[in-house]
Amino acid sequence: MRHWCVRSVSPAETRELGRLLGTLFAKPATVLLLGDLGAGKTCFVQGVAAGLEVPATDPVTSPTYALMNQYRGRIPLYHFDLYRLAQGEEVDDLDLEGYLAGEGIAVVEWAERLSSRERQGFEIEFVHAGDDERTLSIEARGAAAEAVLERLCHCWRERGAR
Ligand code: ADP
Ligand code: MG
Repeated sequence: MRHWCVRSVSPAETRELGRLLGTLFAKPATVLLLGDLGAGKTCFVQGVAAGLEVPATDPVTSPTYALMNQYRGRIPLYHFDLYRLAQGEEVDDLDLEGYLAGEGIAVVEWAERLSSRERQGFEIEFVHAGDDERTLSIEARGAAAEAVLERLCHCWRERGAR
């Protein structure tokens, strides 16, 4: 499955989607997040952290000043936030590529700032669709990501059916 568009009606639902995705990761992966301020990106990453079994004593917050926060889960989680960066600037100094090709799950907020986004993995665009409504347009690139997206979609539908 290459594309899946899903609607969230609450922060709890966005977190749950992230959590499900986190539980499905078995190998290193990259997740690029796009969308405006307040679109729900950090909320989603909090869910991913829960799904990766990052202890609740280590809460996920926006790494706006640090650019990257690292969390210890079942698989390491690298949480980037490129909000502060101007396009193309500084990104090279971050060794983002090193992390993105590394051992963990690299999640990047404000991935619009990256000069190249043609990488394997996930790209998720968050769009405001009302007060508490958001649409998440999820694209999977590469066979591994496509398989994970298939399972995510399946899990989400199962959950809705309960
Ligand atoms: P971003 O990281 O994209 O700037 P945040 O996750 O920090 O966004 O903030 C999202 C804000 O929107 C939070 O205040 C959250 O409570 C609110 N919100 C309302 N509805 C939703 C939803 N469906 N999904 C995610 N956040 C939502
Ligand atoms: Mg954020």
